[in-house]
Amino acid sequence: MAAYDDDNIFAKILRGEIPCFKVYEDDDTFAFLDIMPRSNGHMLVIPKAKATDLTDIDPADLAGLMAVVQKLAPKLVAALGADGFMIQQFNGAGAGQTVFHLHIHIIPRWEGESLKPHGTTMADKDALAELAEKLKGAFSG
Ligand code: 5GP
Repeated sequence: MAAYDDDNIFAKILRGEIPCFKVYEDDDTFAFLDIMPRSNGHMLVIPKAKATDLTDIDPADLAGLMAVVQKLAPKLVAALGADGFMIQQFNGAGAGQTVFHLHIHIIPRWEGESLKPHGTTMADKDALAELAEKLKGAFSG
């Protein structure tokens, strides 16, 4: 496995060097909207700890990360009136990983609605901004 690259895009987002549509943050975890969503509300939950993928994180940090995923996912579903959610997580370029800072995709699903392809279509920025405000409210409750 390649060493963690401090210049990966999610490291820059964590340092506030590039913008994102943040929806949640605590001491160890950060969450923001995926800029090329597979469905409305597609979000990414990442650890603040430096980890390239699932194999590269301390088990205790992973447990904390997944506890946040478990907490936020049902709130996301409720806020958007979705029928459920899907978790996606890629490890290694050959498996489809494109950003090498561990991230958990939470993807809301609606019955009968197909997913858009992974990481292809940029969402409208105003729509993402509006959605982020709504979700921040939902997650703070
Ligand atoms: P993966 O590494 O699991 O294949 O996916 C990386 C994800 O990050 C993709 O779903 C892609 O749309 C998303 N992504 C890539 N660059 C950016 C970015 O600059 N900002 C945000 N918010 N998401 C990004």
